[in-house]
Amino acid sequence: MIDENEVASKLAILGLTDQKLNDVLKNKKLAFALASIVQESGAESALEDKSTASLLQSLGTATKDIPDTSVLAARSLVTDAVVTKKIKSNIQLEAAVAYIKLAGEKANSADLDIAAGVGQEVTPERIDEEVATYFAENSKSIAANRYKSVPSLMAGIKKLPGLKWAPPAEVKKAIDKELLEVLGPKDERDAPPKKTKKEKAAPDAAAVEEPKKARNMFTEGFLGDLHKPGGNPQIKPELMTGHLKATNGIVVTRFPPEPNGYLHIGHSKAIAVNFGYAKYHSGICYLRYDDTNPEAEEERYFTAILEIIKWLGFTPYKITYSSDHFQRLYDLGEELIRRDKGYVCFCTPEQVHENRGGDNGGARIPCKHRSTPIEQSLDEFRAMRDGKYNPGEATMRMKMDLEDPNPQMWDLVAYRVLNTPHHRTGDKWKVYPTYDFTHCLCDSFENISHSLCTTEFYLSRQSYEWLCDALEIYKPAQREYGRLNITGTIMSKRKIARLVKEGYVSDWDDPRLFTLVAIRRRGVPPEAILSFVNELGVTTTNSNIQVARFETSIRRYLEDHTPRLMLIPDPVLLILDNLPDDYVEEIALPYKPGSPELGEHNVPFTKRAYIDRSDFREQDSEDYFRLAPGKSVGLLKVPYTVRVTSFRKDESGKVTEIHAIYENDKKIKPKTYIQWVGESPAHNSPVRISEVRMFNRLFLSENPESNPDGFLADINPNSLELYKNAVIEVGFDDFRRKNVKEGGGPESMRFQALRVGYFCIDRETTEDNIILNRIVTLKEDAGKSSA
Ligand SMILES: [Zn+2]
Repeated sequence: MIDENEVASKLAILGLTDQKLNDVLKNKKLAFALASIVQESGAESALEDKSTASLLQSLGTATKDIPDTSVLAARSLVTDAVVTKKIKSNIQLEAAVAYIKLAGEKANSADLDIAAGVGQEVTPERIDEEVATYFAENSKSIAANRYKSVPSLMAGIKKLPGLKWAPPAEVKKAIDKELLEVLGPKDERDAPPKKTKKEKAAPDAAAVEEPKKARNMFTEGFLGDLHKPGGNPQIKPELMTGHLKATNGIVVTRFPPEPNGYLHIGHSKAIAVNFGYAKYHSGICYLRYDDTNPEAEEERYFTAILEIIKWLGFTPYKITYSSDHFQRLYDLGEELIRRDKGYVCFCTPEQVHENRGGDNGGARIPCKHRSTPIEQSLDEFRAMRDGKYNPGEATMRMKMDLEDPNPQMWDLVAYRVLNTPHHRTGDKWKVYPTYDFTHCLCDSFENISHSLCTTEFYLSRQSYEWLCDALEIYKPAQREYGRLNITGTIMSKRKIARLVKEGYVSDWDDPRLFTLVAIRRRGVPPEAILSFVNELGVTTTNSNIQVARFETSIRRYLEDHTPRLMLIPDPVLLILDNLPDDYVEEIALPYKPGSPELGEHNVPFTKRAYIDRSDFREQDSEDYFRLAPGKSVGLLKVPYTVRVTSFRKDESGKVTEIHAIYENDKKIKPKTYIQWVGESPAHNSPVRISEVRMFNRLFLSENPESNPDGFLADINPNSLELYKNAVIEVGFDDFRRKNVKEGGGPESMRFQALRVGYFCIDRETTEDNIILNRIVTLKEDAGKSSA
């Protein structure tokens, strides 16, 4: 038994604050329990380790009310396990207390270890893995219920056997991370349900009620942390003075694509970062074609790149070409040699590889050409320029630092001989500069304040700075951010070329691809891409984003920015037998419910209308709410319901027409409304659509490249569904005329086909041959199930 006077001194060992100590002393039971625990622990002086002290306090709280002396006797086992750090978390402690309560005098250390999961700690990686797996297994319901699924997710994950001993706070952190990854930040869909009854059709209201704190990629994260113009140190102060004089201290960036292929979705981030950052800071951004490799360039790429930049809403301050600077670059090549920082090397690629340490990363050895006298190197460099050497016979290399651990410092090649004419300089040059030599120097010539590139260039930063300093010219600051990757697709030029060549897709702009020309043709609005990039933010880690998340962004944008029309992809005739043959009622349809400013238009409702085949069943059932024999259904905006009386089929068993009556009875409340298009030659209704192209995922998995049989084996056989007899309501014609008048391209005529999806007009459309592309489905699940 502990003497009451001893209690305070025992408690001191727990390192409580005075305030806490006072509180504990007021609670006699707790104070006594804690003092006993300290005694059990055998500790004589204050516990160094805060977490041990805190677990012992929890043990006191958990056992202070236990009257059973045999349990209290067993408590020393728990105390011991805490002090020896076998028990490390509250969750283990709870299990241990439960065990001694149950076992009483039979309690023993070995069983306690088992009961409390001693030695079964869960690493953070394991937690992430378990959580990710659980998400994947429940992806459908998570996508459907979004953040509302959090409580059930927590409960489900808590029960996973693999996470039994995981600290709940860590698990919560992993869940939050995964939610953000899968669903993106909370948005209007996650707002609490509205209570107002009167405004049923106003999905936008939630967003108005609770304005989101908008993310801004230019003031947060990587871009928010960048230096101000003038903040990048120089080897000589006058270099900065000259730079600021040239730029007036504004932000100067550049977007430097190689004109050897089409840009893809990943580049949209580079464009948004470089053009966007300059624009945000009222600076300028160059479009610089990095055309130093004459072998790969084609005119069509130059045009396509510029068009995409403009499409995304940016205007280059100036269009420049690395080849503009060929003379100046060459002169600096000579200057580098004169400064004894460059030499002409005649080693073969194999010798260079060996001298750089070979396959095994051995010692790095300077080749004999490295010590050639300056004058001789200069002569040889000029001989290279004058065509005295064949490709591969000589290179000009930078004399860097072979001792440096960074391979980018191992005497990189600055110039190589290429007897290829250049599309802008013709056959003037026999030598061409490398990326490593050209890039930083062109940045310097253009007085770039922030040279922003992706993290694969991280190691190049050192050589970039080395070269500017070696020549004592203005040194821009290269900074690297994480690339944007979309999973479930491929970006490699070579592989896309193969898809095109072998007919898996129609061309580089086939809407199933993720080149920017394809994304544009598919109808994705440029604003949706920019807001997607902005939402993701810019950091220094690469992001692998699922296509579904990209599509969610697109859908969110289209929801707010498209009119609604009634499209029937697979029509079947519905004949209302009790209406006169010449019956015509004009039904007013709003272009967008809840947005009267967008206006409305009339569609004819007549005896004969088209509905979609998928909205009819020959056999009714209780859980089916659309058309079936004997069933009443609403036609969107039509005053009364229709009820099916009979239907006809052709020899193949395909339903050819459905007969119904128009019910003229307000009391019948249909369970659902379906879209329809009336037949009325006087109204030019319906409008015939030659082809509706429903695009699904091109690949079956999230990582086509990992398919053991190659990426082609992962192709989704149903990536394109075609509907050749579709009809659409007459509002389409008005809308199309308006779009043409406003000068939009076909892909910019986007609309929501009610209950079907979002669509735009394909570029192959002609006056009487209309082709529609599905941009995205209305809901995420629909897209997945059809894949
Ligand atoms: Zn050499």
